[in-house]
Amino acid sequence: MPDGFGLSNLPYGAIRRDRASPPRLCVRLHEEAIEVAAIAGDLDVDRALVDAPNLDRLLSAPPATWAVLREALRARLADEVPAHARIPLAGAIPCLPFSVADYVDFYSSIEHATNLGRMFRPDAEPLPPNWRHVPIGYHGRSGTVVVSGTPIRRPSGQLPRPDGPVFAPTERLDLELELGFVTGGPPASLGEPLPIDEAAERIFGFVLVNDWSARDIQRWEYVPLGPFLGKSFATSISAWVVPREALEPYRLAGPEQQPPPLPYLRRREPWSLDIALEIELNGATISRTSAAGLYWSVVQQLTHAASNGALVRPGDLYASGTISGPVSGSEGSLIELTHNGDRPLTIAGEERTFLLDGDRVVLRGTAGDVALGEVAGRVVAA
Ligand code: CA
Repeated sequence: MPDGFGLSNLPYGAIRRDRASPPRLCVRLHEEAIEVAAIAGDLDVDRALVDAPNLDRLLSAPPATWAVLREALRARLADEVPAHARIPLAGAIPCLPFSVADYVDFYSSIEHATNLGRMFRPDAEPLPPNWRHVPIGYHGRSGTVVVSGTPIRRPSGQLPRPDGPVFAPTERLDLELELGFVTGGPPASLGEPLPIDEAAERIFGFVLVNDWSARDIQRWEYVPLGPFLGKSFATSISAWVVPREALEPYRLAGPEQQPPPLPYLRRREPWSLDIALEIELNGATISRTSAAGLYWSVVQQLTHAASNGALVRPGDLYASGTISGPVSGSEGSLIELTHNGDRPLTIAGEERTFLLDGDRVVLRGTAGDVALGEVAGRVVAA
């Protein structure tokens, strides 16, 4: 069985060999990280781009440079790699693979938006009237994006009670399974939109995202301006960024869009991604779904985010929003899987509605022989 981390993948990460060592830009090949600068002499690329702690310098380079480096790495790594460039992943310490510039979270799964609409507005149409016209999103907090493996402290906040709010640790801590991408390349000028035909090449690569959510804080605070402290305490991403080229063989047309989107959002090329996804809670798989059904593609998400002339910067993180499928057992959050806590899951003999201290969540994704970096996180007490 391929492990998903062969030459067709080669994701980038920022890895410390041990606690005494600084992070270095690496690519992952099976169960080893290869320090890129240590083999840079064999690559026909500017050494300054890869003699670096993380992806930041490469993200600022033109997209054509990314493709040249990837091809050079694939050719070089088909041969023996010197021992000093190889870091066994067992014992290595992953860091955030890039400095997160801006962070945008969308709401691109029609199944997720419908499930939440039914729960929170049972007397209204589940989908808001704008949903099929505009890829809904909001700006999140980039400073609290953390790498996979970082413990997640249970946040406190205002919790609604019948006789008024109290300030206490959240009682409804949830996970959200999402697909994220990071952008790069020289920024356009402020005020200049990004045409949809040019959006794909600004996507450097993909990560999985767990957008941890405190549902009680969220529900009390979100009217009328949207998510705030119920989301901003932590967002976990993969330690490895899978290059866009590695996922291009898994592009699909995606679901039909009715009514057709406005011209600036109209798809010319297929950019849905056939990525199988799963959520594991305390070792048990609790959901299996796919990114292929996302209503708004990654290219539409990015085009929309820049359509008012806002800058797309190197290191911007864009997440899809919770990905849910059409059938029971394919939901991307506990609030959906447990019907707002009314139908607990049973995991190894224990009931779960929302997350308890000590719970461990792992998100996984695979497209053919390309694996996305897992996103793991354990909940710790407030
Ligand atoms: Ca989210």
